[in-house]
Amino acid sequence: MSEISSHLADFKQSLPQSCTLVAVSKTKPVSAIQEAYDCGHLDFGENKVQELTEKAEKLPKDIKWHMIGHLQRNKVKYIVDFVHLIHGVDSFKLLQEINKRAKKIDRVVNCLLQIHIAEEETKFGLDQDELNEILNGDQLKEMNNIRIVGLMGMATNTDDDEQVRREFNGLKKRYDELKNSDHTQVQMNTLSMGMSGDYKIAIEEGSNMVRIGSAIFGARNY
Ligand SMILES: *Cc1c(COP(=O)(O)O)cnc(C)c1O
Repeated sequence: MSEISSHLADFKQSLPQSCTLVAVSKTKPVSAIQEAYDCGHLDFGENKVQELTEKAEKLPKDIKWHMIGHLQRNKVKYIVDFVHLIHGVDSFKLLQEINKRAKKIDRVVNCLLQIHIAEEETKFGLDQDELNEILNGDQLKEMNNIRIVGLMGMATNTDDDEQVRREFNGLKKRYDELKNSDHTQVQMNTLSMGMSGDYKIAIEEGSNMVRIGSAIFGARNY
């Protein structure tokens, strides 16, 4: 077995059944994705629109593409017709643009709201006020071509496991609150948290979707 297929098999065995594995293939060649696909894996994540569209063109059409990076509004049009899930929605304007583009092609696009959970300043994401503003605004009710299916968050990049755990735990609490609320266009079923370095903690804290790159495909050379 090659490295990629054995890593995938290990993950499939160790992750809970309810947890979806998104194989993050950014910077990796099409051949690496094909190899994972040939093992039966269908969920792949990319963080750049151009790289995502180029790869999607060359690879099988039943792949479920996850846009996990920061998405600029002017690039939504390039992915709206095929993207499976957009993880990084961090503004109302972006949500509006996704809705507008999806409406034109009569699709409903599933989105995750990215929440800022890290104590680090550098990461993207909504704070509590911005989240409330989106969910409580009247305009959301008319946005029939998006569906908010969950939350996504990235913990601080630190060796302090307790800090990472606290950050994930906070996100899970917000997820549970929203799950029990009745906002229109919101149907919480996905909590995307955990990467190669912190997915074990994320799962212990209630993640049901992990985004794993280097632990499957090997370290990235930028
Ligand atoms: C690159 C990336 C990942 C995967 O990172 P690894 O540490 O390689 O597992 C997960 N999520 C996002 C948003 C990323 O950009």
